[in-house]
Amino acid sequence: MMTTADYLYVHIPFCKTICYYCDFVHRVYQEDIVDAYLSSLQKEIESKEISSLKTIYIGGGTPTSLNERQLDRLLSLFDSYVSEVKEYTIEINPETLTEEKIQILKKHGVNRVSIGLQTTEDKLLKLMNRHHTFSCVQSVVSLLKQYGIKNISLDIMYSLPFQTMESLKKSVNDALSLHPTHLSLYSLTIEENTVFERKGYDHLDEDTEADMYEWIVQKLNASFYHQYEVSNFALEGYESQHNQAYWRYEDFYGCGAGASGKENHIRYEKSKDIRQYIQDPFQQEEILLDKKDEMFENIMMSLRMKQGMNIHAFEKTFQTSFIDVYGEKIKPLMQKNLVEIENGYFRCSEQGFEIMNSILVELM
Ligand code: SF4
Repeated sequence: MMTTADYLYVHIPFCKTICYYCDFVHRVYQEDIVDAYLSSLQKEIESKEISSLKTIYIGGGTPTSLNERQLDRLLSLFDSYVSEVKEYTIEINPETLTEEKIQILKKHGVNRVSIGLQTTEDKLLKLMNRHHTFSCVQSVVSLLKQYGIKNISLDIMYSLPFQTMESLKKSVNDALSLHPTHLSLYSLTIEENTVFERKGYDHLDEDTEADMYEWIVQKLNASFYHQYEVSNFALEGYESQHNQAYWRYEDFYGCGAGASGKENHIRYEKSKDIRQYIQDPFQQEEILLDKKDEMFENIMMSLRMKQGMNIHAFEKTFQTSFIDVYGEKIKPLMQKNLVEIENGYFRCSEQGFEIMNSILVELM
């Protein structure tokens, strides 16, 4: 089946060690398994017959847990697209990045990195089973910049067990001292079958979590990182192009174990079982999306962005009038000043942004 998605996500499910809160598809790095995985990934990517791409995002797992030879092999798979790719991101765990690996990223045209900083409090890092320190992140960021990779996003977590407001403030201030272009801030969720769940750790209470979120939004806005999505902040012009494609509900390829993609009204998910994926990289579960589901999902994803949903794009995709379908439902929300339509965009108001889930229930 020929598709024309412009965006590619690739999942590399290997990590040096496993963080105690993580439920992503992952396993501890093992050289021979990674070699076999890369062979299957190559088959899957080649089968897509991709003609060109606007963004590539290599996530995980920890793509930089691969050794230098394997990282070079992985990135070679995308060399033919690089001249047209605008944003080429790879996720990095600071403890696994070497100077030689940075040279490999550079050689293959990677122009953006996303670093899992999470917190700068050593005690919390230990609790999470993360093995880097803030000074390790400082060194990595400085080395990346020396090699000209200056588009750097940092991931920070909040509402961690035992985390205080002071600890969060320090982590955010430390992160800002590195002058990243982009910041993603996520509250901890306790997922099933994680060490955190088994140990009975919990995130902080709702009020503290809400206070932390409020502080983050104010702090980052005051530091010129504008909030363009619920959890994402960027300097002007450095918003993630790849993630915005998801929120605009565009088609994207998803390759690798546990990856999901959306092509031609079909959402698919690759096997989460890494050995099974190695044996058969084409096996996937598919859901055929009907128009009603897609319209709602499009709104749901787009409202996560501050700019909201482009009504013209919605009408072009679904060949129907937005107001004809949703007029009755949005009228009371507009009267309560929870949503607005401005310059061709449908979005949550400032007040509505804080209670987005309730708005979505009304639109369902
Ligand atoms: S490095 Fe990332 S993917 Fe790997 S275990 Fe930690 S959180 Fe999960």
